[in-house]
Amino acid sequence: MNYKLLLVVFLFPFLCNGQVKSHVISNGECGTDFTNEQRQQHYQKVAAYSQKTTAYGNATLAHDTCIRKNLSLIFHIVLDSSGNPGVTPTQIAACVQLLNNVWRPICIKFLNCSTNFIPNWNYNKWYQPYSEPTALGNYFVPNCINIFVVDSIKIPAGASGYASTFSHIVIEKSVLVSTTAIHEMGHVFGLPHTWPPAGEVVKRTNCYSTGDGFCDTDADCYPTGFSMLNPNCTFLPGPTDGAGDYYIPPLDNYMTYFKNCRCRFTQEQYNFMALEFITGGTFLH
Ligand SMILES: [Zn+2]
Repeated sequence: MNYKLLLVVFLFPFLCNGQVKSHVISNGECGTDFTNEQRQQHYQKVAAYSQKTTAYGNATLAHDTCIRKNLSLIFHIVLDSSGNPGVTPTQIAACVQLLNNVWRPICIKFLNCSTNFIPNWNYNKWYQPYSEPTALGNYFVPNCINIFVVDSIKIPAGASGYASTFSHIVIEKSVLVSTTAIHEMGHVFGLPHTWPPAGEVVKRTNCYSTGDGFCDTDADCYPTGFSMLNPNCTFLPGPTDGAGDYYIPPLDNYMTYFKNCRCRFTQEQYNFMALEFITGGTFLH
């Protein structure tokens, strides 16, 4: 084991404001994924945005690149067969607060524009191919980020949430106040997961053309090695890349599947979200 790995293994619990969280390996996390074509477009965008930021004399913009924008959220809560919402106004407010805490560095503020209760309990078992077209047709509010809150997502199978860029999120009630909400909002701002496709090497020499396209997120070997995670968010050495270097996945990053260890975005992720919003999200109110 090299010394760098030792440091990470022992220091990781103390990163991210000293929070140590328990980890439970969940049955899936998110139903959002990029097609190969979308992934290639993403890499092109990262390169284009990088040129823009370089034009300002700095390849990595400071976090305080402020968008200075308030964005309206519409919560659509599906009622159960007895008319119960299953989430409280306090939980909705807590979700908004979580998001605001995380997007503050680029000066995005989310406001709960309205909470809509959907009196059709069928949507509580959410099958994306069938539920989404009618739910969006009936309830989607244009120019806002719509958040559909349901009991259980059946398709995509195993997902507790998924999202569409600058459009909507579908999320299960049980994880509304959790890093899943932050992860899905990351997708709304165009961020991919940290790992696919496989092939990013530990030294990150190919970081702009594989993985998530960002170089300040560590190469992520997920799903290989997922079982190496310890309950206190430390990671046992296991998988190696072709050069024999040990993967040290970015356990703390919101766009991983290391659900209970997530607590940050990187600078390149913030920069990307800011530029992605300027490029394609300014229609939002
Ligand atoms: Zn995801």
